[in-house]
Amino acid sequence: MSSPSDLQNLPQPAGFPHFHFVSGELHVESLALSTLAKQYGTPLYVYSRAAIGQAWQSYVNAIGSRRVLVCYGMKANSNLAILQEFARLGSGFDIVSDGELARVLKAGGDAGKVVFSGVGKQAWEMEQALAAGVKCFNVESVAELHRLSDVASRMGRLAPVSLRVNPDVDAQTHPYISTGLKENKFGIAIETASEAYQLAKSLPGVEVVGLDCHIGSQITEVSPYLDALDKLIALIKELSGHGIHIKHLDLGGGLGIRYDDETPLDPSILLNKVFARLDSFGLTHLELVLEPGRSLVGNAGVLLTEVQFLKPTADRSFAIVDAGMNDLMRPALYEAWHGVLPVRPRSDFAPTQWDVVGPVCESADWLAKGRMLAIEQGDVLAIESAGAYGFVMAGNYNSRPKAAEILVDGVEHHVIRERETFEDLVRGEHLLR
Ligand SMILES: *Cc1c(COP(=O)(O)O)cnc(C)c1O
Repeated sequence: MSSPSDLQNLPQPAGFPHFHFVSGELHVESLALSTLAKQYGTPLYVYSRAAIGQAWQSYVNAIGSRRVLVCYGMKANSNLAILQEFARLGSGFDIVSDGELARVLKAGGDAGKVVFSGVGKQAWEMEQALAAGVKCFNVESVAELHRLSDVASRMGRLAPVSLRVNPDVDAQTHPYISTGLKENKFGIAIETASEAYQLAKSLPGVEVVGLDCHIGSQITEVSPYLDALDKLIALIKELSGHGIHIKHLDLGGGLGIRYDDETPLDPSILLNKVFARLDSFGLTHLELVLEPGRSLVGNAGVLLTEVQFLKPTADRSFAIVDAGMNDLMRPALYEAWHGVLPVRPRSDFAPTQWDVVGPVCESADWLAKGRMLAIEQGDVLAIESAGAYGFVMAGNYNSRPKAAEILVDGVEHHVIRERETFEDLVRGEHLLR
């Protein structure tokens, strides 16, 4: 066993201060992660309620007395208990499907604070959202505008719309999470936006209320937002010349978190610049909408996994763990980097280099490569910054049940999703008669 003095140089967890070492053991709030791993098994997602609260508060502080609606980009983590927490905090929600709307309503969220994004909305999804009374549809194409107008007219309703404009700015992030360049499938090209707004004005079933953009994710610089904002402000001016008056401006989500050594952008730094720019153009009356996802939950969660086998080979050394790409897809999908921390770090032998890989039959099934770790079979590892785009992307490939999810709250914890069983895996399947 290591003595505390050997462990003074433990790294600072990405979710600090809510994830922290106490006597050489990684804790979330007041609970040792090893205790949760033992009680519920692995792989296991563990979230900190306080970390979510703190991330929310950083937006509240940045907003001050300005008129801003935060619509949590819920595709980052849509567990009902997480949504319930955001609803309780007063958050709105950015949804991308009818399933997400149903989750919001089940969790007690306010449909009047919901904005509906996504490039492929179906007529029945539009109907459900209109019936629920969402705040706004973020429309991503002219074809969608026609469909929405038809659906709303048939229902005798007027659908509130923003057009999601693609401002063609480089968010300086991974190509797979960049959405505001003209080669991306998202939004309406800014050059044709004025024309699309004039069409919207002429359609019977829609009412223009806002202007929307979302340029990408894991953004750590202010400049891409300000570049987009300048283009949007110019468009707002142009539209008002056509008698089209924008009531709210939605700048989307995208603020980054700490995975490795990034310096996340504090919302106050971004918002102070945005407010100053809006004021200087006489747009103080505009309501601002934000759609943060990752920055509200990403650093609030870890994925716990147990080392099954150590497999040193001539070329590389593999630590085979019980979580795979089906549990956390980001490394396989984006070559994303996640920190790996043993929950009980060892100091009785020197670390060596390991590739942390899962049990799934794919070479893309890895969680971390080339990490210096002092580990043995049976050790529990925390994959850090797994609160966003973690469990939500999980699947059942290789007939692997999805992990359980736990929300820690001080000394207490709640099972917010049970581990799947074999029965869950085959639900809805039928043998031939
Ligand atoms: C994914 C998404 C968000 C949230 O993005 P984050 O990078 O997680 O903040 C917000 N708005 C839209 C339209 C999205 O697709």
